[in-house]
Amino acid sequence: MTRSLLACALLSLLAACSPRAEPDVGTPRHVVVIVIDATQAAQLGCYGGADGTSPQIDAFARTGTRFANATASATWTLPSTTSLLTGLLQEHHGVVTNHHALAADGAPTLPELFVDAGWRTAAFVQMVYASDAYGLDRGFDTYTYYASAAEKREDGRAVLDVLGWLSERAADNERSFTYAHFRRPHSPYDPDVLSVAALGVNPTSVPHERLEMLMHADSRVRDIAELRSGELDLLRGLYRANVRAIDERLASVFEWAAARDDVLVILTADHGEGLGEHEHFGHGDMVHPEHVGIPLIIAGPGVPTGVNEARVATVDVAATLADICALDTAPRDFDGVSLVPLLRGMALDRDDGVFVSGRYRTADNPPTVASKDARWSLVRHGNGDVALYDLVNDPDERTDVASDHPDVIAARLAQLERLVDRGVRNTAPGAASPQLDDERRAALRDLGYIDDSEDR
Ligand SMILES: [Zn+2]
Repeated sequence: MTRSLLACALLSLLAACSPRAEPDVGTPRHVVVIVIDATQAAQLGCYGGADGTSPQIDAFARTGTRFANATASATWTLPSTTSLLTGLLQEHHGVVTNHHALAADGAPTLPELFVDAGWRTAAFVQMVYASDAYGLDRGFDTYTYYASAAEKREDGRAVLDVLGWLSERAADNERSFTYAHFRRPHSPYDPDVLSVAALGVNPTSVPHERLEMLMHADSRVRDIAELRSGELDLLRGLYRANVRAIDERLASVFEWAAARDDVLVILTADHGEGLGEHEHFGHGDMVHPEHVGIPLIIAGPGVPTGVNEARVATVDVAATLADICALDTAPRDFDGVSLVPLLRGMALDRDDGVFVSGRYRTADNPPTVASKDARWSLVRHGNGDVALYDLVNDPDERTDVASDHPDVIAARLAQLERLVDRGVRNTAPGAASPQLDDERRAALRDLGYIDDSEDR
């Protein structure tokens, strides 16, 4: 062995024997949380979806940590966004139906924690159920809601506003927390022509009224049996093109962040979207992977690159940011936990999986709920029926194995019942009434929420 080879061997041995330094997750000066509404993770290229659907997000994912098993904590926009911004499950923040809003004296919000620490805060929101009408502007210095149908189609305007705000904060040497909530790919599946062309989708292959129906499948197609030959592929193509449309727009935000070394970006979704996997479309009532499996990607100073397989949830975002940015959370408690240990290569101090609950029709009407960990997904329907799925052998939740595992069910069910029962009792304290003007009512109608008592 030559001297240099011997030196290399010794160095390798030393490296192998010395304790591995934990990567240091640095404190950023700018935090940008991007929510793309109703995004089924499995449709994104970096989550195994078709090539070309999300090239910009895929490239962004390679610069940070992609959580492969991230779950939405609720199944529709209002409670899920409230969970993201408070770090509380809907059973605790109390915003569980569309007749609720976050009260002024309700749970503290993430932007309030940033303001307390001297950061500037702004929100740019295209979705009415994530808006000030429901108390979700609390803590933001600057709040922009894009009210008109045209503004909800034109993502570029919101992206420019985000970039303008970020550039000003950087120029003024101010720390900033930015929340950007985009409508796409939420229905209507109305992608621009370039995105349609890029994915080879052909909307003229069906009569116009059928196309309209497919674009609003979440509210107009109740069962997969209503679709004719070829229509399921077209529907999914339109959805993917809608993902691509917002994906293209986000490129400039990713570029702005990548050009600096002090920006932390989190990309996620408030919930997923059923595209016929379990015969149904849309989101709200069901808790299968297509409905609650969402992207969660974190990139920024000190965040390692790679894929993390731990079961995590959107309710963990607030605790994670409070940890990374050293925000003073006392005496506030989160239901979520900080994901920083995972970013440092360690395990989470949570072994009982994550909880997700579906839509409450009324505050005292139990929804479908689930607990999911590395092995099991336990689903308890509103009527009390229970199903169990083996996520290792059946990740798409096709086969109910409840009858084979009564012990697993008993333990998990007790945990679920404690939480849901507490939620049913406690829905009032954190909740107020939404403040809907004509513009916001119109937005609900445009999104397919025709009857205000119906929401998804
Ligand atoms: Zn949503």
